Amino acid sequence: THPEDIGKDIVEFERIMRGESEGYAMNKRYIRKDGSIVIASIDIKCVRTSDRRVDYFVAMIRDITEQEQRKTEALAAQSQLQATLDAIPDLLFELDLDGCCHAYHSARTDLPAAPVGDLLGKRISDILPSGAVGIILSALREAGEKGLSAGKQLELQGPQGKLWYELSVSRKHVDPGLGPRFIVLARDITERKASEQRILNLAHYDSLTGLPNRALLADRMRVAIQRAARQSARLAVLFVDLDRFKPINDSLGHDIGDQLLKAVAERMLVSVRSVDTVSRVGGDEFVVLLGEIETTEDAARVAEKLISALSQAYEIEGHELLVTASVGICIYPDNGTQPNVLLRNADASMYSAKEAGRNRYQFYSDDMTARAIERLSLEHDLRGAAQRGEIFMVYQPQIELATRRIVGAEVLMRWRHPAHGLISPARFIPIAEDSGQILLIGEWILVEACRQARRWRDRDILDACVSVNVSAVQFRQSDFVRVVERALNESGISPNRLELELTESVVMQGVESTVQKLREVEALGVKVAIDDFGTGHSSLSYLRQFTVDRLKIDQSFVRDLPGNADAEAIAAAIVAMGLSLGLRIIAEGIETEAQAEFLQSILCKEGQGYLYARPMVADEFEAWVAAWEAHRLPGAS
Ligand code: C2E
Ligand code: MG
Ligand code: MG
Repeated sequence: THPEDIGKDIVEFERIMRGESEGYAMNKRYIRKDGSIVIASIDIKCVRTSDRRVDYFVAMIRDITEQEQRKTEALAAQSQLQATLDAIPDLLFELDLDGCCHAYHSARTDLPAAPVGDLLGKRISDILPSGAVGIILSALREAGEKGLSAGKQLELQGPQGKLWYELSVSRKHVDPGLGPRFIVLARDITERKASEQRILNLAHYDSLTGLPNRALLADRMRVAIQRAARQSARLAVLFVDLDRFKPINDSLGHDIGDQLLKAVAERMLVSVRSVDTVSRVGGDEFVVLLGEIETTEDAARVAEKLISALSQAYEIEGHELLVTASVGICIYPDNGTQPNVLLRNADASMYSAKEAGRNRYQFYSDDMTARAIERLSLEHDLRGAAQRGEIFMVYQPQIELATRRIVGAEVLMRWRHPAHGLISPARFIPIAEDSGQILLIGEWILVEACRQARRWRDRDILDACVSVNVSAVQFRQSDFVRVVERALNESGISPNRLELELTESVVMQGVESTVQKLREVEALGVKVAIDDFGTGHSSLSYLRQFTVDRLKIDQSFVRDLPGNADAEAIAAAIVAMGLSLGLRIIAEGIETEAQAEFLQSILCKEGQGYLYARPMVADEFEAWVAAWEAHRLPGAS
């Protein structure tokens, strides 16, 4: 016998002996030899003699070990089930066709509308909002007809926000007298709804900036177009592209690029009204949809506002960044009535804004689409053009006006397109800048120019400075100074035989890193010229911060010399200012002797232009030098 069950039946046994009972039944545990427990069901009856003394016992003992084990297991399962039921957030109701609640199960205490306890015996219409009641009643009807209703969803306002439930309703078999009853399982799908919403957001919003993406923009455009069509109103689509964003992204890292894009998005949002849509449709491309405009000038004003907001300096992780934006404007219905057409035309106008010099806006006109397509194909063709030998350099001599001595040569890039022939750098360099290809090409030019200078020096053809044009994109690269250094080392020319031409806008940016970099260039011993001087916003005090060697008077002033009073005044002022700063001055684009004479009269000592020579390939340049020298010094040996 199991130790705990010893003596368990002694009391019963004594009652039988006293004549108070005729038997008993109980379960008792025994221990087998191997130590395992046997549960026995014992049924004892006594048989008495006629004088009611116990004659003998009839005992029935059954081994019920297995049966008992099953029972224990079932009990455990039962309480497990209860615990599970208590743990799930689903609600179980028994409702009749009127929506009256006859039973419920819920472990939730944070129920919407009313605590479950209050539900019992009530109609759901007393407790839930009518929308939810309608859905539940229709599920009940469906279950009444088909026996089952699954998948209906309803939304309830909970204390901590919206809750979503999915209903599955089944008909319960009950007494015919009672009328139909239904078991309603309301499953909490709030989480699932939230992730569905997240997915929907992903499909419609840009994850970086949170702005609507292209898909949602297209939706909004369709809606806006319908409304505008009804009201015979106009819409404007503004395509905004950041100028030279890619190089910033490539050189400072995508993390900083991302932060810059976020900052750009924020500035755009505050520049438009809340009814307008600002969306991000590509890396550095944004589209603004102006829903209600009276006149096209309204669109122009918004574009101006955007451009000026975006061009303020950005402070990102200690970097002071400057970007500008080019904006293309397309008007519904004037320039298109379909979303994709409006977008395409706004895109084309944006490219034409870029071509016109960036940092500006441009309205759409019909010829733009063709040009935009051409531009794209040029960008494509430019890839690998240098390796294929399509890009080459030409050299234009720079002359000391009084002595006609050759004081230098400007290196200019050319692209011979296999199909379109020669393409002007003014056309393809902006494209190369936007796509970042300028970096490779620019480095290649720098190295090649230094090598050429070295060859000319070694062969006694020319021992003068070569001037290389440097793009803003190149200059802003963090390793720019090292690239220059490498070109010098590789060619072995002395640093003062190399001059870098930077445009005014690059130098005048006022960014601390620009000053720093110019100082590093200066420390290398390389010269710096400011190209196209007079076309930007020059500041004298700024020029004093570092050593610039030369100013190049832009050819737009030279063109009108002499005779045009304004051009004369500007040219004279530039020369006077430059001389006061101790700079050399060179005039670009001299085509006539009269221009050269005037320039000399205002003390401009150097010049370059077709009057002396057009840009030439190296062989031609060498021949030209020989002829020039012979002519310059007639009779000299
Ligand atoms: P830029 O540096 O101001 O170059 C002067 C431009 O004036 C050159 O045009 C040159 O061919 C042209 N020119 C020279 N003399 C005369 C003249 O007497 N009359 C007229 N009408 N024009 C004259 P190009 O070669 O078409 O270059 C245009 C611009 O492209 C350059 O302006 C420069 O900003 C850029 N560029 C050219 N080569 C390179 C390069 O290798 N790298 C970079 N980053 N930019 C370059
Ligand atoms: Mg130049
Ligand atoms: Mg120039």
